[in-house]
Amino acid sequence: MAKVGFIGLGNMGGPMAANLVKAGHQVTVFDLSDAALAQAREAGCGVAEQLVDVAENADFVISMLPADHHVEAVYLGEQGLQHKLSKRTLVIDCSTISAETARKLSAELAPHGIRFIDAPVSGGVGGAKAGTLTFICGGDESAVDEARNVLNGMGKNVFRAGDAGAGQVAKICNNMLLSVLMAGTSEALQLGIAHGLDPKVLSEIMLQSSGRNWTLEVYNPCPGVMDGVPSSNDYQGGFLVDLMAKDLGLAQQAALRCGASTPMGSLTLNLYRSWAQLGHGREDFSSIFKYVTPQMKK
Ligand code: NAD
Repeated sequence: MAKVGFIGLGNMGGPMAANLVKAGHQVTVFDLSDAALAQAREAGCGVAEQLVDVAENADFVISMLPADHHVEAVYLGEQGLQHKLSKRTLVIDCSTISAETARKLSAELAPHGIRFIDAPVSGGVGGAKAGTLTFICGGDESAVDEARNVLNGMGKNVFRAGDAGAGQVAKICNNMLLSVLMAGTSEALQLGIAHGLDPKVLSEIMLQSSGRNWTLEVYNPCPGVMDGVPSSNDYQGGFLVDLMAKDLGLAQQAALRCGASTPMGSLTLNLYRSWAQLGHGREDFSSIFKYVTPQMKK
């Protein structure tokens, strides 16, 4: 059993912390939301009064926060945990942030004797609840091996992509591809629907054909095709459009830095940004299905 501090109990972090409790770890949590803290308490977590309390005697501190500035503020800010963590603590940041910020955290925590790995996840809220996430790690091999003690309680795969920041690079490559698959699947389903096809039948056909992909398998964007996914729950409770737009921005920044050509990623970034600007930022990213609704021309 490990003593774990957990920061950020949103759609992902809440169920991840609950699974750590189920795996037998002693978990102390912190979030800015009282509702999230109350749910975590019900799941068996200890609740910290303030951020610094999660650091006390922790073997591991795990963070699952929205974006770069949240993570930097938690560890490097004036009240940051860099001044509070003990040298035996391994910091595991599971948020999706830029590789640069992950490397900066690793470099700035090191002089304090604090080890850091980036460990962004794939698998969505369903994977977080079921404890089947994939962790994509960047950092020292020994630190990644040590992290398996707790990551195995929340997921089924732990990969090491390379040194600090490499986990984040692999993660944005994956999410850029996911956005293309989601937009393309939505477009194909809408085209079929506009021509009178039943989306359930069309989904089944494409699942058994060369268009098969993860969105058709477990995350169909068309309401009513699949139970238990955000599209059948008014696009609530999944991976926010705002977060996908953030990840696609990170992917484009990374592409600019190395001169890579990523036309599909650039297209989906603009698609998701404008969908967010139209007021859908807090919906699940599969709501892009509504953006690509074609009208039958008479
Ligand atoms: P979310 O917005 O649901 O949750 C974020 C939580 O962080 C909130 O509860 C918020 O109150 C808390 N928070 C913000 N600032 C804080 C601070 N300073 N101290 C303590 N708590 C703070 O986001 P999410 O969907 O859980 O995503 C978290 C991260 O995981 C993001 O980086 C996202 O890109 C990534 N991710 C999400 C999914 C998904 O399907 N939702 C999948 C893979 C990766």
